[in-house]
Amino acid sequence: MFNSLEELKEFCRTQEIQLIDFKVVDLAGRWHHLTIPMERFTDKTMETGIGFDGSSYGFLSVEKSDMVFKPDISTAFVDPFTETPTLTMIGDIYTLGNERERFEGDPRYIAEKTERYMKETGIADYSLLGPEFEFYILDHISFKTTPHHVEVLMDAHQAEWNTDKKDVQNLGYKVLHHKGYHADLPYDSSFQLRNKMVLALEKNGVPVKYHHSENGGPGQVEIEVSFGPLREMADRTMMLKYIVKNTAIANGKTITFMPKPFYGEAGSGMHVHMQLFKNGEPIFYDEKGYSGLSDTALYAIGGILKHSPALMAFTNPSTNSYKRLVPGYEAPVSICYATANRSSVIRIPGYATQPEEKRFEFRPSDATCNPYLAYSALLMAAFDGIKNKIDPEKEGFGPYDVNVYALSKEEKEKIKGLPKSLEEAADALERDHQFLLEGGVFSKGMIYDQLRRIRSDAAQMSIVPHP
Ligand code: GLN
Ligand code: MG
Ligand code: MG
Ligand code: MG
Repeated sequence: MFNSLEELKEFCRTQEIQLIDFKVVDLAGRWHHLTIPMERFTDKTMETGIGFDGSSYGFLSVEKSDMVFKPDISTAFVDPFTETPTLTMIGDIYTLGNERERFEGDPRYIAEKTERYMKETGIADYSLLGPEFEFYILDHISFKTTPHHVEVLMDAHQAEWNTDKKDVQNLGYKVLHHKGYHADLPYDSSFQLRNKMVLALEKNGVPVKYHHSENGGPGQVEIEVSFGPLREMADRTMMLKYIVKNTAIANGKTITFMPKPFYGEAGSGMHVHMQLFKNGEPIFYDEKGYSGLSDTALYAIGGILKHSPALMAFTNPSTNSYKRLVPGYEAPVSICYATANRSSVIRIPGYATQPEEKRFEFRPSDATCNPYLAYSALLMAAFDGIKNKIDPEKEGFGPYDVNVYALSKEEKEKIKGLPKSLEEAADALERDHQFLLEGGVFSKGMIYDQLRRIRSDAAQMSIVPHP
């Protein structure tokens, strides 16, 4: 939005901005924030940054927990949810010392390093990513907090989800269970709310492709955003979660991105579509290749499938993630690829036939991930596949253009399954992470921070009693 501090200050003066807010992403992919009065925002803020305790953000691998962040003025937006005019910016994390240096474990920096590695190796000039966000909109949700994590009580489920109890007119038009996909008015009871969300997204630099009611529930919906480059798309992902949650609250609702909030109902995924471009040309298209894919695209798929168990420690980093990845709900369970097959890890959309739209989607990921790390890890696995010419067919990953859920037991056994728990994903990452360290993109320290974090979550959830 702004190219210089002068431009930004001028904007603040004309718009009577009174507060400057900074958002910094932690290891788990959550924004923390800190606010200063407009008068305190000076050139020095930009030069020296603002100090904070990095260990509270999950960054334990650094020797000293004191860190600073510096705002990235190109990310500035006027916060739509504050009463007092507030300008918000995302911060980059730096280490202390005479010279402020980018902190190697800062998720935003890892995303930038991934983009740099892609260019330096000559694999591609840029990537475009397209995440799809599924979530439930609820009237009410209660959380019973465990020491660290949350467990959703099912009272929202027992009551009527998303049914505007005050809105008598709508009581006769409830979406039947599993019948919500693209449901129209008056069944689509969150339509007006989603419109508000989407318009706020558009206004704040997150272009939206479309939004619709989803299969699960009632109450499950989806917003797909327009494709964008890696780091920007991770910023936009943070923004989307912020806007969607706060718009819901401002309208007396709540939402959850939890991958599997309700037993017996569809879970919420965050599929990620991927494309690479070189010299301005898409490099995933070849009309003669399987499903119109080039060898480069197939190798990228080979790399992603080969590393998918390890990748899940970043793309599916919560204990709840694994409750979604079960047969019967259009969520992937098997490590394979296919065209238009929703039971596989990689799906090639059958309707994307033009060279510039040729792509595939990674289906396991969910919105509990840190988007910077998840998108970076996915691309690093794709680059590994391209560099080492990992042929997915030779590796035995398919293509399986059949419903994997419906295969016989013997046939199913031939296809490798995804990790069944967060512990299994953590073990896979511990065994297999060299592809992430290439070019200094991920550091060993931050991989061990992530392992420590997810193993601690898994250990805490394993002692929670449930029937
Ligand atoms: N909700 C499904 C999942 O968990 C996806 C459903 C769909 O988009 N077709 O991934
Ligand atoms: Mg979709
Ligand atoms: Mg969907
Ligand atoms: Mg999809």
